[in-house]
Amino acid sequence: MYYVSKRLEISGAHAVNSSVEGYCEALHGHNWVIVVHCKSAELNEDGMVVDFGRIKRAIHGRIDHTNLNETLDGLNPTAENIARWCAEQVGPTCYRVEVNETEGNQAVWERDE
Ligand SMILES: [Zn+2]
Repeated sequence: MYYVSKRLEISGAHAVNSSVEGYCEALHGHNWVIVVHCKSAELNEDGMVVDFGRIKRAIHGRIDHTNLNETLDGLNPTAENIARWCAEQVGPTCYRVEVNETEGNQAVWERDE
């Protein structure tokens, strides 16, 4: 099995819809640090699990410097939903995504095997 990971920094804004009163409801910014993990038993024709540039274009290219309430395909932009959305953009080689919203606040999406 081959493993690769890509670290991205996303500067953007969001307003989270929450049942907890006062929680993140106002539009505000973050510098999210996102780590995308991919694996594959076989390499592609270019000798890669997945091209690092493709991961960057699929995620950074779509949501950096945006309002995630508008660019995350209608999802409530929690760290958990951001993680799953990132995995979907990368495709089936992606098995884990870590989204660090602030120092010490991390959400992880991981594929069930
Ligand atoms: Zn926030």
